[in-house]
Amino acid sequence: MTTVVMKFGGTSVANVERIRNVAQHVKREVDAGNRVAVVVSAMAGTTNQLVGWVRETSLLHDAREYDAIVASGENITAGLLAIALQSIGIQARSWQGWQIPVLTDSAHGAARIIDIPGEKLRERLDSGEVAVVTGFQGIEPNRNRVATLGRGGSDTSAVALAVALRADLCDIYTDVDGVYTTDPRVVPKARRLSRISYEEMLEMASLGSKVLQTRSVELAMVHRMRTRVLSSFTPPDEIPAAHPDTWHEIGTIVCDEDEIVEQQVVSGIAFSRDEAKITLRKIADRPGVAAAIFGPLADANINVDMIVQNLSTDGKNTDMTFTVLQSDLVRSLEVVKSAARDIGHFDVESSGDVVKVSVIGIGMRSHAGVAARMFTALAEKGINIQAISTSEIKISVLIDRAYSELAVRTLHSLYGLDAE
Ligand code: ASP
Ligand code: MG
Repeated sequence: MTTVVMKFGGTSVANVERIRNVAQHVKREVDAGNRVAVVVSAMAGTTNQLVGWVRETSLLHDAREYDAIVASGENITAGLLAIALQSIGIQARSWQGWQIPVLTDSAHGAARIIDIPGEKLRERLDSGEVAVVTGFQGIEPNRNRVATLGRGGSDTSAVALAVALRADLCDIYTDVDGVYTTDPRVVPKARRLSRISYEEMLEMASLGSKVLQTRSVELAMVHRMRTRVLSSFTPPDEIPAAHPDTWHEIGTIVCDEDEIVEQQVVSGIAFSRDEAKITLRKIADRPGVAAAIFGPLADANINVDMIVQNLSTDGKNTDMTFTVLQSDLVRSLEVVKSAARDIGHFDVESSGDVVKVSVIGIGMRSHAGVAARMFTALAEKGINIQAISTSEIKISVLIDRAYSELAVRTLHSLYGLDAE
């Protein structure tokens, strides 16, 4: 018997008609004899509206109340789906985070799941009942308050539940039919990948692809939970019920790299416009300076991504460039300027007119020259590189925002990713 967790995002449950469509996807699995738990998001737009109401009431709001409010969107969809299932003859029950319970830490608004005791739900599934679980929320046991996992957190709820239920597959239903080599709106020749490794998907998610929440991929990777991305807009009878023989036929499976037969050197191109660049000029070149800058940034919970430091020409001063999220720019500048008090004067420049473009592929581990080809191709188009960062399976460059699309298209063809 196959155990499957099916997660449906906001556009998949946007109204009652779409919820009935979800019920048909669930029915297909139940009819095939699969054990099914469903995780739902709030109806499209609901969470934004709830967040808006909180901010309108007070910009400086209590995080526990924020969570109590924004978690409510998922409660509605879970109840509606349970009713829609019951009305087509399927035994179903809704579950809010606290009822399972989905236990979290106390970081309200960005909580992490600590544990999901799965026995109660497993018994229900054994008895043939479908469990419909609210995504995005859990309970913080010390104060006994509802906690939410951060925007897009329902993906993480689904993977965590799949792990707790020891599911064979975690299906993430969304409004696109899989993971693409890059954003098809930028490159119409982008191709759907039938398989992608956990490591690559993690890079894709954290480098700007918005299909899956980064934390959900981390969790899937740690627990080796096979996770598939597919569309709820594909008619329910055109998708085979989850079964190991057929589950690779549709969507994109995020899986172990051993399961990927035709491995490309580069699997995808990601880009993120949510970047800002800060340059510190004529900063003292001596031990402790980097720590004096990046320590306070870390204390302020600001994630620094790319860092470039020049060699000093006079042995005293140097230039340093680094990137942060656009939304952290103002705060970062404040932190940096106050660091100047400790380490002496330097000039600060910043720009939000940049984009980070990344090429990703586990094939890079065993192929030389991937970066050199990238830099040559960009140079031929007259695109200047402002910063570079690499890991074992990715190369990122920071370039002028005006060149984003040209760069992504150029690299997509360069590495043979264009669809015929
Ligand atoms: N409803 C929540 C959000 O919009 C969680 C989710 O849909 O994943 O962020
Ligand atoms: Mg989402």
